[in-house]
Formats: sequence, structure tokens, C-alpha cells
Amino acid sequence: MTKLLQSSTLRWLIFPLVGLVWGLFGTLRSQTVPQFDDDSAFGNLVRQCEFGPRNPGSEGHRKCRKFLVQEMKRYAEEVKMQHFTHFDEGMDSSISMSNIIARFGPQRGGRLLLCAHWDTRPRADRDPNPGNRSKPILGANDGASGVAILLEIARIMGSYPPPMGVDVVLFDGEDWGEEGHIQDYLLGSRAFVKENPGLSYRFGVLLDMVGDRDLEIPMEGHSLKNFPFKVRRLWDRARGLGLTPFVHREGPWVIDDHLMLIDAGIPCIDLIDFDYPYWHTLEDTPDKCEPESLGAVGSLLLSLIYEGIPE
Ligand SMILES: [Zn+2]
Repeated sequence: MTKLLQSSTLRWLIFPLVGLVWGLFGTLRSQTVPQFDDDSAFGNLVRQCEFGPRNPGSEGHRKCRKFLVQEMKRYAEEVKMQHFTHFDEGMDSSISMSNIIARFGPQRGGRLLLCAHWDTRPRADRDPNPGNRSKPILGANDGASGVAILLEIARIMGSYPPPMGVDVVLFDGEDWGEEGHIQDYLLGSRAFVKENPGLSYRFGVLLDMVGDRDLEIPMEGHSLKNFPFKVRRLWDRARGLGLTPFVHREGPWVIDDHLMLIDAGIPCIDLIDFDYPYWHTLEDTPDKCEPESLGAVGSLLLSLIYEGIPE
């Protein structure tokens, strides 16, 4: 009887204590931002490039799409492909393309949109060698870098469920068009807003060309004009985190997928380092990129997800 009483008394003492410690642990953990793994992200960049050029219609495009969907299915609660076709008047034919949409906490409102284009340019029209200008590019920075970061973020969110709903969207067909033919660019983001008119987001961040060795991300012009407070607060956050690639000055105005989103009422900014000498050349290869650059951008995104979006 005495023994039983003791054990029962002990239980009444221990259970609340365990509950208290567990609750405290949970609180601490919810305020902790998981670590971004630079090397894991860089592995994602190299892996995409190993498929070769990933322009729509190519073998690399088909293989990489399968890889991206498989990866996202490991981590996200919902993964779907949005297939669409684009009629290219110059080619007089239709091209099949696919956006990849991965949702975390799909029932939650006040969502964050993280996006990047996964296709690569079908022609190296800025290559110094005219003989290369009709060849497709590898797109280590222009294509693979943003996706590499988002795959690593997806992996982390798979282990640490985010406190807010997050959609990771990989756009196809961003870089399809010939220069000057704007109607043949930004095809995935156009299709995304057209076919998902009901989706609303509290905030969106587009990543493009964020992996180069000499990374410097100024405040992209359209982003700063449309969302001046959010952009400045985000750069302040980066400075607070010691993320030196984010520089406090206005950068170029870039035609990119965020423009389609902004037109559709989604507040989206573009993180881009447009100062890249290998842009649209055959030299856009993994050796021009580095893990720490992916890490700087990835760390800022993790802060947004786990510490909140600046108002
Ligand atoms: Zn491009």
C-alpha cells in the first residue's frame, strides 16, 4: 500500500513536470530557425545540371521534372503538376510545359509563396562565340540556383513543419522566348495565375540567379517600387542576420516571373543578382556558383518562414 501510494504520488509530481518541460521545449523550438545546409543545396544545383540543359522539349527537361516531383513528394503534403502548352508563333508549334506546385500546411491561410523557374534557356544567345548561340545553356545559376535553394527549404520544412502555410512553386517556361518577344517569356507564371485565380498569398518571394560566386543582391526595381516597406524591412532583416550579399541600394528593373504575380494581385518580390557575366552563355556552369551564396538566400527565407514576414 505504501509503495503504491509512493508511486502514485510520484506520478502526480512527474507528469506535470514533464508537461512543463515539454511545453517549454516546444516554445523554444518554435522560436528557433532551422539551419540551412549550404552543401546540401549546392548538391541540388549540381544534380539538376547533371541532367544537362533543361529547356522544354529536351531529355534533360523530362528527367529533371521527374526528379523535382519525386523530391517534393518526399517533403510536402500536396504535390501537383500544372501542365500547359504554349504556341510559339516563330516555330509554328505547341510546346508542353509543367509547373510544379508543392504545398505545406495546405489548409492554412495567410500563405507564403516561394518560387523560382526550373527551365533553362534553349539558346545561348549572349555567348561570345557566335557558333554557340543556338545551343541550349546548362543554367547552373539561371535556373538551377533558385530551385536548389527551394528544394533544401522543402527538405527542412518536411522535418520542421512551418508555422505558416507555404507553397513552393517551380515555374516552367520562364526563359523560352527570343529576345524582344516578351509574349514567349514568363510562361509558367502566366499559366499559374490564369489557372489558379482563387489562390491568395500574404507575401511571395521569387528567386532567380542567386548562386553566383560573387553574389550581390540589390533591391530589384519593380519589387522596391511596389513594396517599398516590405523590401527595406527584408533587407534590414538580412543585415541583422549578417547576410552580406544583400546590399541596401536599388538594383536593375528586371522582367521576371514576379511581374505576372504582381499583376494578379500577389505581392511578390524578386531576389536576383543580374550582374553575372555568364548570363545566357554556355559558361553558366556550376563552377561559377558556390554553396555560401545559396546559403545566404536560404537563411533569409528560413527566417521569413520561422520568424515571420516583416510588415
Ligand atoms: Zn535567363
